[in-house]
Amino acid sequence: MRNKVVAGNWKMNNDINESINLISAIKRDITDSCTNVKVIICPPFTSLDTASTLLKNSNLFLGAQNLHFAESGAYTGEISAEMLKNVGCEYVIIGHSERRTLFNESDELINKKLISALANNLFPIFCIGETLEQREKGITFRVIENQIKLGLKDIDSKEIKNCIIAYEPVWAIGTGKNATPEQAEEVHSFLRATLENLYSKSISDDIIIQYGGSVKPENAKELMQMPNIDGALVGGACLNSDSFIKIIEAANKY
Ligand code: PEP
Repeated sequence: MRNKVVAGNWKMNNDINESINLISAIKRDITDSCTNVKVIICPPFTSLDTASTLLKNSNLFLGAQNLHFAESGAYTGEISAEMLKNVGCEYVIIGHSERRTLFNESDELINKKLISALANNLFPIFCIGETLEQREKGITFRVIENQIKLGLKDIDSKEIKNCIIAYEPVWAIGTGKNATPEQAEEVHSFLRATLENLYSKSISDDIIIQYGGSVKPENAKELMQMPNIDGALVGGACLNSDSFIKIIEAANKY
């Protein structure tokens, strides 16, 4: 039985004061009854330390939005997995489509980042998803399979158990246009079959596969009811505590 996981990707939003306000509101308003869902908050690097302090002794977990695969060294502007652990992160988003498209991150680079996260005991939220053009060409499954195979290269059965997969169709991210529950479910069940082929049935049954792409309070219930959707990676709607909590409540209930 898989529990739901909801993660909020703040992207490049919220300075330190805004971060304090948002986390305080989430902590204040989230109900104690949300016990079936794990909640992860992923602020920008500059707010991680503050967030880490605020999240101590709460049921909320801290994640980062990116890392560099090297342990340390001459990588100006970059942050290592060990640094993220040190500041209190347990999770890290890797391979977000904005990183893939805006920063030219390849599947090979994403694979290195996943390996580094796992080696440093961080749980990666590994994002995959097709563009609109790829969906219209009818190659969604091929694209997804390729991203999974290349991203998970050399990651063994023990390590994959520490990964969360996030299916995020690129055409649905930040566009207000979510995949229908049926479209998402189709890809999630394909992903489970792919993971069964790569690893085993029990691994594929246990792995968390989140959906991401314009998840809002209005569509969360339908998405969360799908048998292979185990939660959400939320962008825009996580910047407001009311809408984020409504999504968490939907994940908790369905
Ligand atoms: C995201 O950035 O991962 C995301 C899903 O964004 P949004 O919810 O705004 O589409």
